[in-house]
Amino acid sequence: MTNALLETEEQRDLRAAVAALGKRFGREYFTGVVAEGKHTDELWAEAASLGYLGVNLPEEYGGGGGGITELAIVLEELGAAGCPLLMLVVSPAICGTVIARFGTEEQKREWLPGLADGSRKMAFGITEPDAGSNSHRITTTARREGEDWLLTGRKVFISGVDIADATLVVGRTEDERTGKLKPCLFIVPRDAPGFTRSPIEMELAAPEKQFELVLDDVRLPADALVGGGQGEDAGLLQLFAGLNPERIMTAAFGIGMGRHAIDRALDYARTRQVWKEPIGSHQAIAHPLAQAHIELELARLMMTKAAALYDAGDDMGAGEAANMAKYAAGEACVKAVDQAVHTLGGNGLTKEYGIASLITAARVGRIAPVSREMVLNFVSHQTLGLPKSY
Ligand SMILES: Cc1cc2nc3c(=O)[nH]c(=O)nc-3n(C[C@H](O)[C@H](O)[C@H](O)COP(=O)(O)OP(=O)(O)OC[C@H]3O[C@@H](n4cnc5c(N)ncnc54)[C@H](O)[C@@H]3O)c2cc1C
Repeated sequence: MTNALLETEEQRDLRAAVAALGKRFGREYFTGVVAEGKHTDELWAEAASLGYLGVNLPEEYGGGGGGITELAIVLEELGAAGCPLLMLVVSPAICGTVIARFGTEEQKREWLPGLADGSRKMAFGITEPDAGSNSHRITTTARREGEDWLLTGRKVFISGVDIADATLVVGRTEDERTGKLKPCLFIVPRDAPGFTRSPIEMELAAPEKQFELVLDDVRLPADALVGGGQGEDAGLLQLFAGLNPERIMTAAFGIGMGRHAIDRALDYARTRQVWKEPIGSHQAIAHPLAQAHIELELARLMMTKAAALYDAGDDMGAGEAANMAKYAAGEACVKAVDQAVHTLGGNGLTKEYGIASLITAARVGRIAPVSREMVLNFVSHQTLGLPKSY
């Protein structure tokens, strides 16, 4: 894949450098880490020391001063090498962006340098058991007690809480004038009393685990609210600021994984021979791989557009493009992985070749952070102006 016209020289250099790092670690490193129940600490540390993890964060707080475009390049290339770092979606992309754009000066100074150099991580928790796709229905609620906040609620499927120093939790507070609940974002330290987590057993071969969280009157100081006093009214804006990068990064996650799967299939198709030519010469094998490649490229084009709009400050324009990119990448990744597994025949399902585990991993991009149906709903209503069914 070449992007000579769409990317600056710096971005192309970044892509090549990250690809080289990913290649040094490779899929075997990743599957080894998963098999041992460990985390990708060595890769994380090396990517951090090269400045890749905080490439999107402001320079004055130790970041690279780039945008979500650059961070997406990092995630895509590591994924293409078989080493996707899911925490990049959450820590620098969502949490880093929200704090950089809306945090108080103190919050920025406390969190951004650590998120940028990878020494600290932050998870992000919005999903609730009874809300799911309907985030208007979340009930995690914060009430004031003196200067402090008491936060109570439950969350599910929250990634990486065990390895994150804190979780950015989306809750609600009551508007003093109207009595209506409005969203608010709180930084909850991992060891805060009343904040407990239990792992959810997932059929995913990934180092990052998902957790159910219980917040039982978790006492937080006033400055745990993102944006401080202003945070009470800015919650919705803060949330939207984080959701576009999340969708763009999920697209990068899917595109990287899809590319990895196709590369593995191509290696196999070029050499595996059961008739007189390698199986890649049969169009029944070649065409679906070509189709999968085209669809990944198309998804990447939309991701590039979404990231460019976001980095240019057009949050509204980026919203539609980020949804479309996430949708396209999720679909293209599932198709690419399915075709890759099929290309390997029986070997597609062996532990030795290790690509069957991508089947469940690929489907994550269809469900999270917003399901394909909710993207289709968004496009039906917002773009096409059709009436809502729910
Ligand atoms: C691996 C993984 C990691 C995750 N990490 C995080 C994380 O770090 N933080 C976090 O907050 N969340 C996380 N999530 C949660 C994820 O964002 C949710 O799973 C997702 O938003 C869908 O919510 P749900 O699972 O409750 O599905 P539901 O909302 O119950 O939906 C179930 C099905 O119904 C469909 N559906 C629902 N409503 C409609 C409608 N109106 N029209 C048409 N179809 C509809 C959906 O598309 C879906 O197919 C993660 C999930 C996974 C799988």
